[in-house]
Amino acid sequence: MIDGCFTLLERSGLSLNNITAVGVGVPGPIDYKKGMLKHPPNLPGWRDVPLLDILEDKLRLPTFLENDANAAALSENLYGAGRGVDNFVYITISTGIGGGVVINGRLMRGEDDNAAELGHMTINFDGPRCGCGSWGCWEVYASGTALARFAREGIASGRTTLISDLAEGYKVRAEHVFSAAKQGDEFARELIQKEGFYLGVGLANVVNAYNPGLIAMGGGVTCEWDMFYDEMIRVMKERALKANIEKLKVVKALFGAEAGMIGAAAVAFNS
Ligand SMILES: [Zn+2]
Repeated sequence: MIDGCFTLLERSGLSLNNITAVGVGVPGPIDYKKGMLKHPPNLPGWRDVPLLDILEDKLRLPTFLENDANAAALSENLYGAGRGVDNFVYITISTGIGGGVVINGRLMRGEDDNAAELGHMTINFDGPRCGCGSWGCWEVYASGTALARFAREGIASGRTTLISDLAEGYKVRAEHVFSAAKQGDEFARELIQKEGFYLGVGLANVVNAYNPGLIAMGGGVTCEWDMFYDEMIRVMKERALKANIEKLKVVKALFGAEAGMIGAAAVAFNS
């Protein structure tokens, strides 16, 4: 990361003196106040890493750490699809499901900086085990990883589908399901309809809990949301409290992979 900072400076013809601060988006859980990565499930070996101290020591600049989903939420709220919306929820659907919540114009961090872990809402208390240790979490049903898992389970049980051909012997991924559905594959279409259903169930919970004016959704799976949007919204409307969806808008996030970076910079600017 430090090498990366110096490479960026070199490329842009700047020196450290031109830089006011550094913002870093990292996977949670983090200790926001201590600037520490605690034990991110997707970064094995990173346990209690004092990243803020390490970076400040080498770069000699004020440095700020933010949970990557919160950073993305902030970027969408300040500059993106949720600009100017006081009650705003950002949801990213990719490998897992992440979220960030802005209430009354402020990012909701929670007592231990771990608020808005929306992917770990229990959707089915009898459901499969989740990486977090619980069972039947939203991301076990509606993430891109889950979509691929449902496809593999169907293939293993003998469903005829193009999905396995498209994967060409490699592990089936969510994009194979979307490609198969575009070619008229019936099983793939069923899976994507189910994806919309599970997303809608989770959205209803989000809407009931936070009463947002707008939800922006990002992450790889939303690139194809035309294929499940109607089902997702239908299920959300069927299940959410009616008063909470009257003014609600559900839109695609504006920033792609850059959302976390822009948000991390915003954390530094605004601190
Ligand atoms: Zn979980």
